[in-house]
Amino acid sequence: MTDTKQTAPQSKVEKSEKEWRAELTPMQYAVLREKATERPFTGEYDHSFDPGTYVCAGCGQPLFSSDDKFDSGCGWPAFSAPASQSAVAEERDGSHGMIRTEVLCSKCQGHLGHVFDDGPGPDGLRYCINSAALKLDPK
Ligand code: FE
Repeated sequence: MTDTKQTAPQSKVEKSEKEWRAELTPMQYAVLREKATERPFTGEYDHSFDPGTYVCAGCGQPLFSSDDKFDSGCGWPAFSAPASQSAVAEERDGSHGMIRTEVLCSKCQGHLGHVFDDGPGPDGLRYCINSAALKLDPK
């Protein structure tokens, strides 16, 4: 996307773990709140290229556009950029013996996936995102 929008800081969504557990499916809860990773090639959107906006499965914030989705072959939905820079937050993640950059929803702090620097676009970024963290809002 070339017209990356900078939006004003949104109000944060904060809920207790009990509330999240009641609202989310077990898979959504495991990914968003416990930073689990779904098994590769199993997610609903791995091979979906329908047009629309991918919103956070936890809070509904728009996160990624289908325009930026590409087939990385890695087994998870991959995007070259977020819908807006303010939609996602990044954190250093040293778990599992690797140094990675974790990607979170900036509004509810839900875990989405990781960003790597081996993407095909001009920025070279590959946002590798769990399907369970997303919901497609079709165009
Ligand atoms: Fe969210």
